[in-house]
Amino acid sequence: MEQASPVPVLESLPVHVARVGDAMDVRRALPHRLRRRVGAWCFLDHYGPVALQAEEAGMRVGPHPHIGLQTVSWLFSGEVFHRDSLGSQQLIRPGQLNIMTAGHGISHSEESPKPHPAELHGLQFWIALPELARHNDPAFDHHSKLPALRRDGLQMSLIVGEALGERSPAKVHTPLMGLDILLTDVGRRRLPLDPHFEHALLPIEGSVTVEGRQAEPGALCYLGAGRDGLLLENQAPAHVFLIGGEPLREEVLLWWNFVARNEEEMRQASREWQAQDRRFGQVHGYDGPRLVAPEIVTRLRAS
Ligand code: MN
Repeated sequence: MEQASPVPVLESLPVHVARVGDAMDVRRALPHRLRRRVGAWCFLDHYGPVALQAEEAGMRVGPHPHIGLQTVSWLFSGEVFHRDSLGSQQLIRPGQLNIMTAGHGISHSEESPKPHPAELHGLQFWIALPELARHNDPAFDHHSKLPALRRDGLQMSLIVGEALGERSPAKVHTPLMGLDILLTDVGRRRLPLDPHFEHALLPIEGSVTVEGRQAEPGALCYLGAGRDGLLLENQAPAHVFLIGGEPLREEVLLWWNFVARNEEEMRQASREWQAQDRRFGQVHGYDGPRLVAPEIVTRLRAS
């Protein structure tokens, strides 16, 4: 198991391209083979900006199950329509947060609405739930208002958790933070951090210098723990996303759409999804097939 670095480091971890849904390529930053998690953040996809013609379907991810995690959806442009087995139906727009807590089981679909805006760009995260919360009932929440902060030429939104004396209304189960940062003015400034958290920064657009090292889209910048601040410098407007959290002291296994602790839990969840067991409920109104769980072919690797 890779341990969180207890001391500050600067590691550039290249993202890799993965396919999601019917036809969307995304840049996957987590899990990375060198750093499987950052705090409880265990999955991070960056998609777009992609131009969507009016006649194009856009995003289409059919009904699929989750266990043991929270999904966090955050858009920079475009719209996504969410449906789940609790009966939630929610359109999400830039600046709004969708957070779904799978607990012991939920299913959902995601699609571009019809009609849809001409561009789609956003982030999809998973947060691993700790032992004390991972068997809870599922939940879905939409937050249209989040703490906004302006300081030192930065325009920030606190998506989840606590940072800079603010707290997001989104319910989470371990100490963590997710902060959208627009570097609107050029300059050099120090952003205070919680030294108990490990952190990583994902460049979204433009170039920034992080503790003296240049960071650009295409790689996650892993920062380790033990920092009480981060030096950020830019010579042109830029956009980054900062995640952090207390290192999760639990072995966590990821397979397909499941976060669990061992292979038998994965097999059980997979069987129950395929059998349309009531554990995962039904998603109503999605015009398309539910996703099929792949075969578990190899021994799963703890991370
Ligand atoms: Mn999902």
